[in-house]
Amino acid sequence: MSNFKRKLRRNNARNFVKSIKKKSTEQKMLFEMIPDHCLNCYAPFDKTDREMVNSWFVTVREKEEVVKLFCPPCWNKAKEIVDDLKERANEKSA
Ligand SMILES: [Zn+2]
Repeated sequence: MSNFKRKLRRNNARNFVKSIKKKSTEQKMLFEMIPDHCLNCYAPFDKTDREMVNSWFVTVREKEEVVKLFCPPCWNKAKEIVDDLKERANEKSA
């Protein structure tokens, strides 16, 4: 589980875009790789829409160069799932 955590960096889409803008062309390629829709519900995402960039979320696996995009409702659902998993893991180790 801790291994998984290290590999997967979670970010607000805004921070992600910021971090890319600061960096090299390699990072800009990651920006190109942001999907144009929510991975879960396929709601359309506009990279040039500031409000959307501010409120949507991405997860980045830099090694695999995989960028996943979630709209706020799906992100909250995903968080619940992760929290649930964590709780179960804690129960096991306790
Ligand atoms: Zn969604």
